[in-house]
Amino acid sequence: MNYQALAELLFPDVSDTPAILEQRFPERDLSSDAIVTRIGPSPTGFVHLGNLYNAVIGERLAHQSNGVFYLRIEDTDEKRKVEGAVETLISAMNYFGVHFDEGASADGDQGNYAPYRQRQRKEIYHIIAKYLTQQGKTYPCFLTAEELDMIREEQTAHKETPGIYGKYAETNRNLTLEQIQQNLNAGKSWVLRFRAEETEESIIVHDAIRGELKMPRNQMDFVLLKSDGIPTYHFAHVVDDHFMRSTHVIRGEEWISSLPMHVELFNTLQWKQPIYCHTATLMKIEDGKKRKLSKRKDPELALSYYQQEGICPAAVWEFLLTLLNSDFEEWRLANPNADYHTFPYTIEKMSISGALVDLDKLRDVSKEVISRMSAEEIYAGWLEWCQQYQPDFAELLTKYHDRTIKALNVGRNGTKIRKDLENWKQACDFMRFYYDETFVMQDEMPCDAETRTAFFKSYLDSYDHTDDSSTWFTKVKTLTEQAGFAVKPKDFKKHPEQYKGSIIDITNMLRAALTGRTNAPDIWEVSHVLGEDIIRNRIAKWL
Ligand code: GLU
Repeated sequence: MNYQALAELLFPDVSDTPAILEQRFPERDLSSDAIVTRIGPSPTGFVHLGNLYNAVIGERLAHQSNGVFYLRIEDTDEKRKVEGAVETLISAMNYFGVHFDEGASADGDQGNYAPYRQRQRKEIYHIIAKYLTQQGKTYPCFLTAEELDMIREEQTAHKETPGIYGKYAETNRNLTLEQIQQNLNAGKSWVLRFRAEETEESIIVHDAIRGELKMPRNQMDFVLLKSDGIPTYHFAHVVDDHFMRSTHVIRGEEWISSLPMHVELFNTLQWKQPIYCHTATLMKIEDGKKRKLSKRKDPELALSYYQQEGICPAAVWEFLLTLLNSDFEEWRLANPNADYHTFPYTIEKMSISGALVDLDKLRDVSKEVISRMSAEEIYAGWLEWCQQYQPDFAELLTKYHDRTIKALNVGRNGTKIRKDLENWKQACDFMRFYYDETFVMQDEMPCDAETRTAFFKSYLDSYDHTDDSSTWFTKVKTLTEQAGFAVKPKDFKKHPEQYKGSIIDITNMLRAALTGRTNAPDIWEVSHVLGEDIIRNRIAKWL
């Protein structure tokens, strides 16, 4: 076979060579230990927690080493394409504070290795495809869908490895130039296949997370270009990561089985293979058993879930870092106030046995993260979220800015910082009593109507908004006694017959009137956020 002629026949319009691409996309001018890596999500409309998980690893490795982190859009699969999906993806990454140095962005592609969207790189793949054809490494395959089905059935029946290789590849591998020409003239559809070698050899890949992976060498005549001239993932990955000069490829472990194809391509093209890092699949525990997170069953697999729930981006990052590095939590205890970007992330500490996505754990991490934020930081993040998801609440936050800041500072002065805010959605519920517009009785008012009226009346009569916390409390104790309640709960426990109840009932009554709940922050502090008018009004309602 004259491969030169075959290459001309298949790619008549391609005149550039790999050497031109080498010049157009030169080696990056970075120090030798700088890591260049990317995420390559497919725009399916569904942004995965796994996308962020891999992004956190890539971002940390690249930026810790003064390297480059970029976003490539892997849109070769037309069937999975969804309108607006690229924008959704970019805005999700933005929301979670993933900083890309280059790649696809809301303002188009940025960077010297553009385009960063695979469908726009067709011409680049075709240059390499033509070159491989000239080297005798490819052939056009005219197998129809029906023929492929028949082969698959035969292979299943004989328990053979599925795919095109050996005898299944023979006919198309051995077509003459004339036959190929005739097929093309007849308008037959074709794909470009890699011409694999039959071999018993094996390959070893050093995965940065998993160590040595030993696998059989590729024997498949896998597809490089589909019938519309668009590359498969395998071909695009090798071409892109070479010409975008990635040093590391961080991707899910589901790609391990395709490694032999990728290694084969890198070797054939005599390109340096990047360092592979195959990350663990996201799992959850259900009924005591570990299982893969499922798109259908588990809302938490979608990144939009965290956005909608208002889980702040920093919390999601810290949560992912706890999943990613076994020593993150220890570091956090030793450095309670440090920015998580300063955590020395290492790939060696990564688990390979499936990353457990535990929402209770996320809740704890999130409470911690919010408790470390200043009232102003909480306000800013919360307001931004409300603007998108609860605009009415955003209006309240804007209208009552000062009150909200004061409210956020309740319980933050002592040594034991309160940790009652979990996320922005829950904050709207937890903090609703600070605004008359959203105040509701969430709990029932304790005590009977008579006791209540009597107590609230005396409370209002003696209330002085200028009392400090201890003067206020002394007054409450006096009123408690006067109402026939035990000031010390244990006295009531010992002699229940002597009292109507204890001070707990009294303070619960006050809490309920002021906050709508019996479980709420310190009454005196809350009162000083609400102001005298609101307090008097809320209590007066019960008279
Ligand atoms: N498009 C691939 C995916 O969504 C990316 C794999 C890779 O990062 O190479 O799984």
